[in-house]
Amino acid sequence: MKVYADNAATTFLSKTALAAMNKNLAEVWGNPSSVHESGRAAAEVLEAARVKIAAQLNAQPNEIYFTSGGTEADNWAVHAAAAEGMKKGKRHIISSTFEHHAISHTLEKWKKHGFEVTLLDVHEDGVVRPDELKAALRDDTCLVTIMFANNEIGTIQPVAELGAICREKGVPFHTDAVQAVGHVPVDVKAMNIDMLSLSAHKFHGPKGVGALYCRRGLPLAPMMEGGGQERRKRPGTESVPAIAAMADALEESCLHLKENGERVRAMRDRLIEALGKLPRTRVNGGRSERLPGIASFCFEGIEGEAMLLMLDMQGIAGSSGSACTSGSLDPSHVLLALGLPHEIAHGSLRLSLSEYNTDEDIDYIIQTLPGIIGRLRSMSPVWERIEKGE
Ligand SMILES: *Cc1c(COP(=O)(O)O)cnc(C)c1O
Repeated sequence: MKVYADNAATTFLSKTALAAMNKNLAEVWGNPSSVHESGRAAAEVLEAARVKIAAQLNAQPNEIYFTSGGTEADNWAVHAAAAEGMKKGKRHIISSTFEHHAISHTLEKWKKHGFEVTLLDVHEDGVVRPDELKAALRDDTCLVTIMFANNEIGTIQPVAELGAICREKGVPFHTDAVQAVGHVPVDVKAMNIDMLSLSAHKFHGPKGVGALYCRRGLPLAPMMEGGGQERRKRPGTESVPAIAAMADALEESCLHLKENGERVRAMRDRLIEALGKLPRTRVNGGRSERLPGIASFCFEGIEGEAMLLMLDMQGIAGSSGSACTSGSLDPSHVLLALGLPHEIAHGSLRLSLSEYNTDEDIDYIIQTLPGIIGRLRSMSPVWERIEKGE
């Protein structure tokens, strides 16, 4: 049996997205910036995709800028806000301790240029506290960037509240919503969001395409030099087939958001219920508000990478943390941000589901995992010490 439970790393293309991709690859090859007929046909598809994506976020089409994915959108939001801050002598940015590296590494870069960065604690439950944001805001704060939902543990932040606090102070608020869009309701107006990043391959669209939403009137300096695409903000010929597929994938995800969410949440809760009962096991992010699909565990006395390999041999694809950090032996910065000690963070497992998973998948994981944990623990000197209570 094969079970794919790593949907937070990427998802496969939905039939809808694949159909849009194929059709446009074959038929809509023009350059959307050309004035002739094939160009106009491509521009039409491009603009129709923009309208669809804007509608799902409650944004205006001219507030959507297509990018090469979530990473570019995140980088761009930080760079644009920092450049604007620099002009005004504002060099302070607020973020959180468990952002994706597309945000945290970009912030590191600005620190080298003399910016000060305040990282808000996410506490043991993986949630930023609005009061702590209020207290951290300063007259020289030029950006607040806090992710909508965490990619390793799935906790959802009080985005509307955080946005309202920023709006009141006139500070731009960006959110990395790559894990949220297409999975939970996102409304940029109701949630007071000024900038938002999304990525197609996290909701069954193609890889290498995403978007930045930027509220009209907010300054947005381009990050690259080149042509006049995307209203002179993002140069480079748009990948019309990928963008059309992203729009259709998003529309489909949002159309079934509620029923898919309920089904996926029920599967996730079965995993948490069954696996959370295993001895010396922690469910990360606890009972806080969570994405429907992500369950995160730490099993004491276990090396996460060994567990992944054994799961893989049984046909189960999971992850120890985020795909971007795997390969390194350091425990995840997200789990450390929750205050977990290194030795516990090492034994982490993220299982991330989608609407394409089945109850049989969940049965199989629940049947298979305890045996793997038992075998690994029986070989572990660390586990022996834990059992002796040392
Ligand atoms: C996947 C992910 C990204 C990066 O998106 P890409 O399209 O893969 O560049 C950024 N932020 C979060 C929270 C993610 O999960």
